[in-house]
Amino acid sequence: MSIHPSTTTNTAHSYERMSCLDQPEVFQDPLLEEPPSTAAPAAVRRRYAVLESKAQEACHGCPLLTDCLYRAVVEHNVSGIAGGTTERQRTEIRKRLRWSVQAEDFDTLAGVTGRHRQVDHDEVVRLRHANPHESLETLAQRLGCSLSTVKRHLRRARTEPRRPKKAPSVPTVSAVLAAYAAVINRLRAAA
Ligand code: SF4
Repeated sequence: MSIHPSTTTNTAHSYERMSCLDQPEVFQDPLLEEPPSTAAPAAVRRRYAVLESKAQEACHGCPLLTDCLYRAVVEHNVSGIAGGTTERQRTEIRKRLRWSVQAEDFDTLAGVTGRHRQVDHDEVVRLRHANPHESLETLAQRLGCSLSTVKRHLRRARTEPRRPKKAPSVPTVSAVLAAYAAVINRLRAAA
């Protein structure tokens, strides 16, 4: 289950209704959290494409879009669709901004899986390197977190640049919007 970044804090627009609340069957579909690889069956990839398109359409009609996109890029590393973007697109936006955020176990934050705890990114990567033959399920049990959290940290270790030692300045809203536009335009040009 993914919880939307804009549900985690009160905002000036908290009285406005998030479009995703009206479509839980789309936004909470587990497939949105784990996009299928190109090797997945065509039917699964088609179903994912339909879900992604429905979720992004809802986001683009959402009054919280800008705030949500900003939080999902700068403050929280969640899975699934948020702020009209996929997790992969947000990773690309962060790369452009030279920014990184800790992956978060929102199931735990939301109290959905109370026995799980938040884990440190470096701890996940270190344990994986120390136990390369161990299954990810075992690793998740060792860390006391969910399997999807472990996967998210390992994916981040593969795709995101190492965090710089000196903290960069926090991206502005306009910088995030510019990076978003650049990523979307690049994808459109490649399509
Ligand atoms: S932008 Fe999308 S994910 Fe964010 S609150 Fe709106 S509908 Fe939900």
